[in-house]
Amino acid sequence: MTEVAVDADRPIRLGVSSCLLGNTVRYDGGHKRDRFVTDLLAQFVEWVPVCPEVEVGMGTPRPALRLVRDGDDVRMVEIASGRDHTREMQRYAARRVRALRGLELCGYVLKKDSPSCGMTRVKVYTEKSASKDGRGLFAGPLMDTYPNLPVEDEGRLNDAPLRENFIERVFAYRRLRDLFRSRWTRGQLVAFHTAHKLQLMAHAMEPYRELGSLVASIKGRPRDEVRRQYQDGFMAALARVSSRARNTNVLQHAAGHLKQRLDSASRKVTSVPSCSRPGKDSRKSTSTSSRASGWPSR
Ligand code: SF4
Repeated sequence: MTEVAVDADRPIRLGVSSCLLGNTVRYDGGHKRDRFVTDLLAQFVEWVPVCPEVEVGMGTPRPALRLVRDGDDVRMVEIASGRDHTREMQRYAARRVRALRGLELCGYVLKKDSPSCGMTRVKVYTEKSASKDGRGLFAGPLMDTYPNLPVEDEGRLNDAPLRENFIERVFAYRRLRDLFRSRWTRGQLVAFHTAHKLQLMAHAMEPYRELGSLVASIKGRPRDEVRRQYQDGFMAALARVSSRARNTNVLQHAAGHLKQRLDSASRKVTSVPSCSRPGKDSRKSTSTSSRASGWPSR
């Protein structure tokens, strides 16, 4: 079988809101150091810190900002004075997000609730109320420009299934990048898809089959189109958080394969443990992918 090439020498690079690393870049001169980011993830990845508000020239300390609804638009304004920073932040974000392309990021951890860095549910104010349906003016362009990039905020990473899913996607995204960064062959794509069969099945069966059909029918099709479709489908499939039931099905599937090769005594080892069978908490993941990679619980 053709090998899936992985370049183990290049670091796995992740973008991060600078304040999460403990850098004193917040509006009040403080930071929001997150121990999962600084103490655990930092052992395995290289961080690329970005503070949009400092980099755009607002300085530290600075007036606090918030998002305000203005008709169909959302504006970034200083809370106390109402000074509008929307245009400068939009220009900066477009420039900075483009510049990140060369760093080949494999993921991004954003600061939740921030009018610049928040990825979801950021407060947007009207005169009388606020709704939690905004995105930071930096986070929005980042996620729109790189839709397959694994992105989470430090708040969502407190949720064990989301955290495991994020880590799994970061490593998978890196392997995907390694595959497509050179002049890949059909055989390499087939090998990649085969190597990820069980992992894909643990997330969703449909995308696994669709990607299989894509891989089987690439002859004569434009390479860029195949690459784009496979990347989109692969990362969308992994973004579906796995469940205990799906992991159990995959373990049973794997056990079925092993049984044909093992004698009766060894078959006992391949039986699916009862603790992995679908139970009350069917959403809780039992995937071993992150644990096998040496990731301890938070
Ligand atoms: S949330 Fe973003 S803009 Fe605010 S201090 Fe942190 S890195 Fe800077």
